[in-house]
Amino acid sequence: MTDLYRLLPEEMEKLVTDMGYPRYRADQILLPLYYKFPKDINDIPQLPKKLREELTEAGYTIGSAKETHRVVSEDGDTTKLLLQLPNDSSVETVLMQYNPTKIGGHPRSTICVSTQIGCAMGCVFCATGQMGFETNLKAEHIVSQVIHFAEILEQRGEHVTNLVFMGMGEPMANYDEMIRAVKILTHDRGFGLGQRHITISTIGIASGIEKLAEENLQIGLAISLHAPNNKLRKELVPTAGPNSVEDIIESGRNYFKKTGRRVTFEYALMEGINDSLEIAEELAKLLHGNGSHVNIIPINPTAGDFKRPSESRVSEFEQILSKSGVNCTVRVEKGTEISAACGQLRTDMID
Ligand code: SF4
Repeated sequence: MTDLYRLLPEEMEKLVTDMGYPRYRADQILLPLYYKFPKDINDIPQLPKKLREELTEAGYTIGSAKETHRVVSEDGDTTKLLLQLPNDSSVETVLMQYNPTKIGGHPRSTICVSTQIGCAMGCVFCATGQMGFETNLKAEHIVSQVIHFAEILEQRGEHVTNLVFMGMGEPMANYDEMIRAVKILTHDRGFGLGQRHITISTIGIASGIEKLAEENLQIGLAISLHAPNNKLRKELVPTAGPNSVEDIIESGRNYFKKTGRRVTFEYALMEGINDSLEIAEELAKLLHGNGSHVNIIPINPTAGDFKRPSESRVSEFEQILSKSGVNCTVRVEKGTEISAACGQLRTDMID
């Protein structure tokens, strides 16, 4: 079976023309796929019955990722979905809505997209990492996460504004499917989201960052650094081995040179682990003058023993970076109580 959400618009065109239909039939599939969210090929009535039958007979389908659970935070700003995939595995995906009356700025509906089930990178503070790796997601199931939320938002007269590839898994470890999904989601005959509204987050796989820089896309890049030196980083990200802190900083610099997009370094702040003022100084020295941005993420409660630092420590850490000219912010938390925040995704809705 092939889910039609897997196909790039050019591929959809080839599919219908190879079946002997005119090219415009492809748009008659694409438009409803991304604006009406059909659950079945027969939910596209404008397609000739014969073409619907032929597509079904040839093994094409729609909506192979099905919602089985939905949890909404008390304030209604965060929604977590569990989607069941054809092989019976499940993936979590999260919608975070930012209300300008609460935090300023523009209203945003950001989806935190997963690219794998579980993750092989084993970051010691991350619930997904502690699950281990199960499988890579197919592009259609990455796209489907966005489609499910687009439909929910559309029913409220709203729409998806941003995507962050920060859910379960390491996007660069599933590069081909991840990039196929990005191309479908940003294609003007696909989902049509602006490239600048997408951020790919990586633990720092330098080869993947370099490949992404060559894609000629305007997507944002976030690199999870978490430590200013290789010794501490190796303790927190045991698989960091081949990519030293220096390599990662260098690939971030190259990404900026190539794309003109500023790189964000994510820094999960953990009490007594990487939150000392000396470490803040070391980080400031490492990133000074490099034009990048640091996003400090006071760690969320997970299954591990890591604790969030006090507010005063977070603020002291931030000030050391800011004073030395390193641009930084502290991440606004979303969805902690429904285990939908960063590092908390682990398909526990099914427990
Ligand atoms: S933080 Fe990201 S890369 Fe690390 S284990 Fe978790 S999901 Fe994987």
